[in-house]
Amino acid sequence: MMKTEKLIAGNWKMNGLGGSLGEVEALRAALAETAPACRVALCPPATLIERMARAAGEGIEIGGQDCRAESHGAFTGDVSAVMLRDAGATLVILGHSERRQGHGETDAVVAAKAEAALSAGLEPIICVGETLEQREAGRAVEVVRGQVMASLPAILAEKGAFALAYEPVWAIGTGLTPSLEQIEAVHRAVRAAMIERLGPAGAARPILYGGSVKPDNAREILAVPEVGGALVGGASLKAADFLGIVRGV
Ligand code: PEP
Repeated sequence: MMKTEKLIAGNWKMNGLGGSLGEVEALRAALAETAPACRVALCPPATLIERMARAAGEGIEIGGQDCRAESHGAFTGDVSAVMLRDAGATLVILGHSERRQGHGETDAVVAAKAEAALSAGLEPIICVGETLEQREAGRAVEVVRGQVMASLPAILAEKGAFALAYEPVWAIGTGLTPSLEQIEAVHRAVRAAMIERLGPAGAARPILYGGSVKPDNAREILAVPEVGGALVGGASLKAADFLGIVRGV
């Protein structure tokens, strides 16, 4: 089956104010000058989604960083998938390790959020990844496989675009990255689990790598078999750095 276009998505986390939109305008101008060889997305804090969607124009897709599974109700401080869509988002990151660890999100919670995202017309980017302790115990593939099997709702087999993101927890924001062989091994295992869980739909969707991707390592990581793009944290905050990664495709 044909693989879909690569996706480079930036996760701004809890960073960015109105004054940061200049970075988006700079990125938009650079991409207009030379079209990227991939899809490009930015996921700002919820407070910036609407303004960023306006600043980004057509060439940059906008995503949320989380959503609640319910569409509305008495959930103070939370944001639903419908609300993200209404603000101009077309994607949403789900199950990031900072949510799994800091907010106790289980695979079942992530799967429910993914269903809500699909119903709202958002493309979920579902994150999985092992901790350093799990990798050192030789359990990386087993842990990641379990997360894929339990975090992907069955409905993905029939409906909607989505992406998977493999993000080893120990590589996020640390400057450490797995070897290219380690990345390939886990991506192959993730692909096998996606197919086992979803059938043909699991063969077609991109598997992003995330964890300390920078302009100087992006090209080699993006060339690894089964790497269908990147989820980028720190290096997505500056247009020049993010562009350096986008140009690595
Ligand atoms: C992330 O938070 O998804 C991430 C990959 O962060 P960083 O690129 O900073 O390691």
